[in-house]
Amino acid sequence: MDWSDSLLWPGGKLLGIEWSAWKVVGWIGNAIFTSRFVVQWYASERQGRVVIPTLFWWLSLSGSLLLLAYSLFHKRDSVLIAAYGFSWIPYLRNLVLHRRSKNARPRCPKCDAPTDTGDRFCSQCGIGLPTDTPGT
Ligand SMILES: [Zn+2]
Repeated sequence: MDWSDSLLWPGGKLLGIEWSAWKVVGWIGNAIFTSRFVVQWYASERQGRVVIPTLFWWLSLSGSLLLLAYSLFHKRDSVLIAAYGFSWIPYLRNLVLHRRSKNARPRCPKCDAPTDTGDRFCSQCGIGLPTDTPGT
C-alpha cells in the first residue's frame, strides 16, 4: 500500500468514509454550500469590489436545503437541524429581493438587458448608455 492508498482508501473505504445515499446527499450539499464562497470571491475579484452575485444565493439555498434534509432524515442531530433549519429563509428572501430590484433596473435601449445605475456602456451589447448628468 503506497501513500495515495492510505490517503484515498484508509480502512478500505473512499476517504475513510462509510458511504450511503444520505452521505452522498450531505456531501453534495456541503460541496454546493461551500462553493458559494468561491463564486462570491471570484465575482468580487472580477469587478474589483465586493459583490454578491445571484448564484451565491442559489448555492446557499440549495446547499442548505440538502444539508437540512441530511440533518433531518439521516443524522437527526439537533445542532445540524438548528443550523440549517432556518438559514434558507434569508437566502430565499434575498433571491426575491434580487428579482424585484433586477426588474426595477433601467434597461438597455438597444438589447433590453438590465443595466446598473452609473453604467456608461451596456454589458451585453456594448453600446453607450444615456447618462443623466451631461459631461460625465
Ligand atoms: Zn445592450
